Amino acid sequence: MELTREWAEREAAADPLATFAKEFLIPEGTLALNGNSLGPPAAGVPVALENAVRRQWGGHLIRGWWDDGWWDAPERVGDRIGRLIGAGPGQVVVGESTSVQLFNAVTAAARLVPEHRVLVADAGNFPTDRYLAASVARLLDLHLVETPMDDLPGVLDRHAGEVGAVLCGAVDFRTGELWDVAGLTAAIQRAGGVAVWDLSHAAGAVPLRVDDDAVDLAVGCGYKYLSGGPGAPAFLYAARRHHGDLDLPITGWHGHADPFAMTDPFVPAAGITRARTGTPQILSMLALEAALEPLEAAGVAAVRDKSIRLAEYLFALVADLDGVEVVTPRAPGRRGNHVTLRLPDAVAVAEALLHRGVVVDERPPDLLRICLNGLYVSWTDVFDAVAHLREVLR
Ligand SMILES: *Cc1c(COP(=O)(O)O)cnc(C)c1O
Repeated sequence: MELTREWAEREAAADPLATFAKEFLIPEGTLALNGNSLGPPAAGVPVALENAVRRQWGGHLIRGWWDDGWWDAPERVGDRIGRLIGAGPGQVVVGESTSVQLFNAVTAAARLVPEHRVLVADAGNFPTDRYLAASVARLLDLHLVETPMDDLPGVLDRHAGEVGAVLCGAVDFRTGELWDVAGLTAAIQRAGGVAVWDLSHAAGAVPLRVDDDAVDLAVGCGYKYLSGGPGAPAFLYAARRHHGDLDLPITGWHGHADPFAMTDPFVPAAGITRARTGTPQILSMLALEAALEPLEAAGVAAVRDKSIRLAEYLFALVADLDGVEVVTPRAPGRRGNHVTLRLPDAVAVAEALLHRGVVVDERPPDLLRICLNGLYVSWTDVFDAVAHLREVLR
């Protein structure tokens, strides 16, 4: 690799994923480097929405639920997301926000082992995850133990036999550190616990194998690496072996075995359908479904390979910047697809970069996050972003 724009241009010209980048609606001259916060729209999204509103809703009115497949959308889109995270069919539903799905998943996980009174939560997780873990602990009268991920194995050992639900983030939202999902899931289960992984910064970013890794439950976000749009519905994965015992707290009528009978009491549907809640956000769901197409066509593995190499290029380009420290682990197996830099005045720097069309974000007080999603970020984008950063810092 060479730290010149010519080299970046040659790499970009030879990039087999370059055709996918053209399918995203990103303004000319803008560098979309915050796909870990809000992915840009794929060209198929406005087409799908236009079709959903004019032809389906406008053309068929309420018949859209059947004629246009709206009723089955949570499971259909769920299966498509399932393929991206290594889940066989019938184990993922799409709907609600990530926060709601976290509440649903953590409560159900705790109820799978009601005699285990310790709820373990990743202390470095996104605030909503931590707030919800605390709320579930209050609701079910559990003892909440928050731990940094580094200390998780020790905490599991100390509470072996008492551990119930364990909520962890697969990729740290601040530092981009990727945790060992397979190894930690096994450790959680050895301690008697039920592993709930938050895949918000991992789904569509890194190859996942939730089935092979024996993950119990997982939740993820629709608007980050899946590019489903602002407020896109989230997803919930539950391993098939748990379906029969899954006592989800949000018992809406869509999760009923016979929703149109409208009878008492609540009888959960078979399979993952019991994890449906109420009427799904169809327009957002269809936008998310259309957004998956470029990622499915490119393949998570290819996107991940390129993202790893883009980050290595970034590491090399920032190496001589005074006062800039790379917080994200450098080993590819230990990081997701966003890179976090520590630098003074990160908030002001991010603001200045934004003015230059370099869309990154900051986590106060001193972290700058740069998302290198190989699906639409190019080698020249990385080169130009660092050139702008260099000028801003000067
Ligand atoms: C983005 C993100 C969320 C977002 O939750 P919403 O309900 O969509 O606001 C939750 N948890 C993690 C770890 C996230 O990265």
